[in-house]
Amino acid sequence: MERKEKILEILKEKKEISVKELSKIFNVSEMTIYRDIRELEKEGEIKRKHGAVLLNEKENSESLLVDTCPICDKPITRAYPYRITVEEYKVIEACCEHCGFLLHSKYEDKPVSAITYDFITENPISALNAWYVVGSSAVPCCSPSVIPFASKEDAERFKKGFGGEVMNFIDAYNTIVNNMNINIKSCCHPQNTTFRIDQLKKS
Ligand SMILES: [Zn+2]
Ligand SMILES: [Zn+2]
Repeated sequence: MERKEKILEILKEKKEISVKELSKIFNVSEMTIYRDIRELEKEGEIKRKHGAVLLNEKENSESLLVDTCPICDKPITRAYPYRITVEEYKVIEACCEHCGFLLHSKYEDKPVSAITYDFITENPISALNAWYVVGSSAVPCCSPSVIPFASKEDAERFKKGFGGEVMNFIDAYNTIVNNMNINIKSCCHPQNTTFRIDQLKKS
């Protein structure tokens, strides 16, 4: 079988894979894999997203147009969602910082990098170095809201207008993750989305 065909076989099983992984599997350079990938992309067989290679499933192409938040299922509408990279290749986006932190809680023991964007300038900042206003009256997405700023001064200024608390990453993280565990109702996430109709009928 040709390498390109084998790549498609792998993708059918794994759903997504990085160029790096493919180059290891076939024991060829990443450049060689990129060439295969480019051809497959032209042929409409695959697509690339955030450094990963995915099958281009034609029948689902419409539903794939809208990315949804893995935490709350809202469509990701922000131009700059909260973005986590786990283990150097797997990129996951959340609708906002609130859900981004909840996403982090699934990877507490893994090295991650996370990018957020200053609320005013929209410049990218490392999520770890940002200052956050937590629980203000401004709720652009999920509640309690977490609004990132590159500078503490800007965060303090925002707090004067909209309330909430200014926190560094780990304090903001703990507040959201603990809050969500204790008082899940304070959040807009859909609850009890899993159910069985036969059990509902009995009760
Ligand atoms: Zn969300
Ligand atoms: Zn959100």
